[in-house]
Amino acid sequence: MFSSDVVEGSVHARTGGDADYSRQYTRDFVQRWDQLIDWNKRAEGEGSFFVDLLQKAGAKRVIDVSTGSGFHAVQLRKAGFYVVACDGSSTMVEQADANFKKHGVSIPVRQCDWLDLDSRVLGTFDAVVCLGSSLCHVFDEQTRHQVLKRFHSLLKPGGLLIVDQRNFQAIRAGKFKSTGQYYYCGTSAKVGVGEVTDEVCEFIYTFTDQATFRLRVYPILPTQLRTEIELAGFDRHRSYGDFKPIYNVLSSDFIIHTAIAG
Ligand code: SAH
Repeated sequence: MFSSDVVEGSVHARTGGDADYSRQYTRDFVQRWDQLIDWNKRAEGEGSFFVDLLQKAGAKRVIDVSTGSGFHAVQLRKAGFYVVACDGSSTMVEQADANFKKHGVSIPVRQCDWLDLDSRVLGTFDAVVCLGSSLCHVFDEQTRHQVLKRFHSLLKPGGLLIVDQRNFQAIRAGKFKSTGQYYYCGTSAKVGVGEVTDEVCEFIYTFTDQATFRLRVYPILPTQLRTEIELAGFDRHRSYGDFKPIYNVLSSDFIIHTAIAG
């Protein structure tokens, strides 16, 4: 068993706002995050999708900028990539570090808000992954632009960006469904939606002991995120619905975007 290297970064949530992400990921919620995901079922649901994308791109050094409790960092490390894990939430970073130890993998982990990601400190990478609909925590378009530029600055020329999102096109059309097949596979929690407008989407997580947690995010449309990715200097955009290149945009849970740093 290796020990991970936890480095403290900024303790404030720079990209926050009224729905500040770090306040939403309370210790209690974060401790339940792995129940919500169910690591084994999530791994089964996505298969080798991300590993294949990264291998095809020839990636060796990968940074997971929204590692959460570390699910993808562990999968990718076990698949042989060199992985650095970051997250802006101190509770998530602690949970990730505990999971790295539990899985016997050595992954440097750092608490860092996206606006503080710095290639002079972290180095540069062949790929940046930002998964679990994380980018939707940023409500303001200008700030998302700065965040996407930061991701770009971590990449070597020709490096690969992988960003996913909940399918807000379907959700905003009143078609929210959480099949439990892919990202949130645990059976001890139900995921529902509360307020849904063009400006905000509230997810409500209710566990079997009736504990309830809410996340408020910006319901960005897939077409808008594609445009924003391109405006931040990426090209060759591709998208996938629930891991498939040909998909029905109204019946997919998650949309995954890939693009190349130009
Ligand atoms: N990728 C993980 C976690 C998704 S939850 C998974 O799929 O399970 C979203 C994560 O994004 C949270 O851990 C949250 O702390 C992180 N996050 C949101 N906004 C952030 C920001 N501005 N800077 C850094 N991390 C952020």
